[in-house]
Amino acid sequence: MIRKLSDQYRHEDSDLSSYAVHNLSTRGRRHKEEPHPFRTDFQRDRDRILHSRSFRRLEYKTQVFLNGTGDHLRTRLTHTIEVAAISRTMARALYLNEDLSETIALAHDLGHTPFGHSGERAMNTLMKNHGGFDHNLQALRVIDELEQKYPEFDGLNLTWEVRTGLIKHRGKNMEFDGKRLPPMPFIEAQIADVADDLTYYGHDVDDGLDAGLISEEMLDGLEIWRMAVEKASSRASRGSKERIRSFTIRCLIDMMVGNVILNSDKNIESAKVQGPDDAQNLKQPVIAFEPLFEKKTIALREFLYHNVYFCEDVNKVNAEVVEKMRSLFKAYVENPSLMGRFAKTRLNKVGVERAVTDYMAGMTDRFAQLEYARCCR
Ligand code: MG
Repeated sequence: MIRKLSDQYRHEDSDLSSYAVHNLSTRGRRHKEEPHPFRTDFQRDRDRILHSRSFRRLEYKTQVFLNGTGDHLRTRLTHTIEVAAISRTMARALYLNEDLSETIALAHDLGHTPFGHSGERAMNTLMKNHGGFDHNLQALRVIDELEQKYPEFDGLNLTWEVRTGLIKHRGKNMEFDGKRLPPMPFIEAQIADVADDLTYYGHDVDDGLDAGLISEEMLDGLEIWRMAVEKASSRASRGSKERIRSFTIRCLIDMMVGNVILNSDKNIESAKVQGPDDAQNLKQPVIAFEPLFEKKTIALREFLYHNVYFCEDVNKVNAEVVEKMRSLFKAYVENPSLMGRFAKTRLNKVGVERAVTDYMAGMTDRFAQLEYARCCR
């Protein structure tokens, strides 16, 4: 027996809520394609991302700790996989389209530069007078223009829903492909966005402890951590310090995911959301932490910024990296022939600064280091 496409559509009809995005209602792709016999549009989009070069390169890009400095620390790739898993949990619990949330989650960091937060800041500064740099919009450039997989067109030709799902920050009357975008993304995209935040809150506590940048004593100053400790100790009283610590982080993540699911369900109900477009036209996202709980998560984020992302040890490494990014950018702009073959073909189309940015943003940490050594000494 074979599960045909029509069976999958029927399954969506009976299993998803009225406000979920259904495959049959997709606004389609820029270049028309025949339907696949076994996979829906969003499943195909997910697979296209998994099979892309940019996705594979996430393995060698820094999330927080310089790539290669610790075998257990997160990379952009493992971060992305965790975001996708949490997005699926939330979408499933809320009767939303899991495939769409997962796909947006898998694509959400494709536009990230090498060297994590500092790499991105460096890129922002370098592009200040040339149209700026935003990693969300860069992800869109990756899937629309920079991936080269098909003979007839540039990019991966993904659906409108996945592409617009990557545009998080929308100004008033923002246009995309000649159409005005509503103020909010689809609920499935809102899920990937919140899942991204809470995933890194959880794993950066884990990695920060692992790397010795923070301690449990420091975390005790945070209400959300104390809540996780209480939850963990109510469920497990025995075990080594390491096991209790891991279990506490597990409780922290579970608590955040649960809070978003319960509160978002209430938001959807109180805003009387009936169809996928309703949630897009609200002033606030419906997928959100409960407001009082959110304050606790913000305190955690501030703690992480101060003690992990921009602490003295990390800053020192970052400053070196930023300097390298600057030198490499300058070297390429002055001598574009140093760049790779494909990047050179784009010079006339997008201008030298943008071609260099597209090239550099796509690099892994180690390739950027090698290029620095080759071009800047
Ligand atoms: Mg992310």
